[in-house]
Amino acid sequence: MNKIDHEIRLSNPDMGGEEAKAAYDAVMSRWPGEGVKTAQFEDMFAKYVGVKYAIACANGTVALHMIWSSYGIGGGDEVITPSLTFISTATSLYYVGAKPVFAEIKEDTFNIDPEDVLKKITPKTKAVIAVHYAGQPADMDELKKICKEHNLILIEDAAEAHGAEYKGKKAGSLGDAAMFSFTCTKIITTGEGGLILTNDKDINDKVRLLKNHGQTAPYQHDSWGSNYRFNDISAAIGIEQLKKLPKIFKTKNENAKYLTEKLNKIKGIKTPAIASGRTHPFMIYSILLDENLINKRDSILKYLQDNKIQARAYFPPAHLQKVFEKEGYKEGSLPVTEKTWKRIISLPFGVRITKEEMDYVRETLGRALKESNRVAAGL
Ligand SMILES: *Cc1c(COP(=O)(O)O)cnc(C)c1O
Repeated sequence: MNKIDHEIRLSNPDMGGEEAKAAYDAVMSRWPGEGVKTAQFEDMFAKYVGVKYAIACANGTVALHMIWSSYGIGGGDEVITPSLTFISTATSLYYVGAKPVFAEIKEDTFNIDPEDVLKKITPKTKAVIAVHYAGQPADMDELKKICKEHNLILIEDAAEAHGAEYKGKKAGSLGDAAMFSFTCTKIITTGEGGLILTNDKDINDKVRLLKNHGQTAPYQHDSWGSNYRFNDISAAIGIEQLKKLPKIFKTKNENAKYLTEKLNKIKGIKTPAIASGRTHPFMIYSILLDENLINKRDSILKYLQDNKIQARAYFPPAHLQKVFEKEGYKEGSLPVTEKTWKRIISLPFGVRITKEEMDYVRETLGRALKESNRVAAGL
């Protein structure tokens, strides 16, 4: 048995001397607030993705708030979102009084199901938000077609999708506007941070006002706004992280290949699928248990956690969270999402994970599954 003397951490970013030096320089510049470094980071990110405007801000959640607000989405409006996502994809709508309408996912990629999106459209629908689960782009062509036909705005929640591609185009350039996050579990990180991307100048201008108190000139406030600014220390770190992104992407894919080959030898699970025309950054590495093991998921998860592996089940369906009680969903409202989630195990997959750690994960998971398979088979 492989011995591991430490926790296999969920967040394990590729950060070191370069970021430390950049942060040091930002401190020594005596301008830690938003300034030249933030502008440089925005410019680099916009060029990298291939869009006109990038606006950095405090985090991905407030980036979503600013997107809804700048598109004029408000009270009584509906936005279609997957339920298998981090909560703020949907809770961000409550900032503007809009209502999340949850759609199903597809079991193979865990991404929003365009067919179900169609079924959820009402006269009140204003937008669709496509979450790129684990970073793998959703079915953007199908969603684009639906949004065009029904005159809806298409937003990308690309919080997990740095560097991912869809038919040769980068995530973040695939809808009307996109949000990225740089919190510490993401593919690249600035500690906390967010970014909005768009080709629409009007949206860019509105977001820039919103993030800085609606200020058009010093102490002149033409519209409502808040303080959702970024800062130059984080931006300096972000610039170094962005330089490393191609390398991080490559390493993650090599690690995913290694882990997938190992895990494919275990009975009772399905490893992540990559749909055609896409690249996958594997911010998350989620496996799907066979249906007959659905009741074993929680005990397998606990076994992994008890054995120093920070496994999770991304994400508990949003529509069943108490915060959305008043929306009237209940167990059974989204059967595919609910059933799929009950079979998901997300393994820790930070970019610095080692072969030794992956071997250990494989062995530990193998042991948990052997026991569960035996019980499931009635042996
Ligand atoms: C991380 C994440 C967010 C929230 O971003 P923060 O920067 O943490 O506010 C939203 N949606 C998805 C899919 C995420 O993974």
